[in-house]
Amino acid sequence: MKIRKGFVSNSSSSSFVCDVSGTALAGYDGEYEEGTCSAECGHEFLEEYLLPPTEKTRDLSLEGKRKDLLELFSHDKIKTKLIKHADSNLIDELFDDNDEEISELYNEDNNEVPKSRCPLCQFTEINKGDLAAYLMKKYVGDKDIEPILKEIKEKFGDYSSFHKYLK
Ligand SMILES: [Zn+2]
Repeated sequence: MKIRKGFVSNSSSSSFVCDVSGTALAGYDGEYEEGTCSAECGHEFLEEYLLPPTEKTRDLSLEGKRKDLLELFSHDKIKTKLIKHADSNLIDELFDDNDEEISELYNEDNNEVPKSRCPLCQFTEINKGDLAAYLMKKYVGDKDIEPILKEIKEKFGDYSSFHKYLK
């Protein structure tokens, strides 16, 4: 985390909105006074929400090796098919041939923030917009919202009281 003091003439201003809390930050050249993360899932959030890394344990059984190979070659349809039906000799051979690349799968430092550390993708946090959309879909659905509006009007009287209640 870097803190810039003063105005640097050749830098351009940038802004950041946390997908978890909605907190907006202003900074220069994509640097902010608080730590920020961009995860591979596309979510961006304040570093304080980043989940701890999950220790992936290597499973060296036949099925464990098969799983690693499938992940490594997930973009290759033919190899994927081959790996799914391969016997233990072929799996062992492929596993040994791709030893280094498979080790990389377990080295999170090389990659950007994985989905497994995103609080939104892991459902340890939810943003208000998604929560509202979910509740709306589940409890309101296609129902007429007129009675709800009437209830709000009767309860709060004016918009600013209603808005204060929502905060
Ligand atoms: Zn995510």
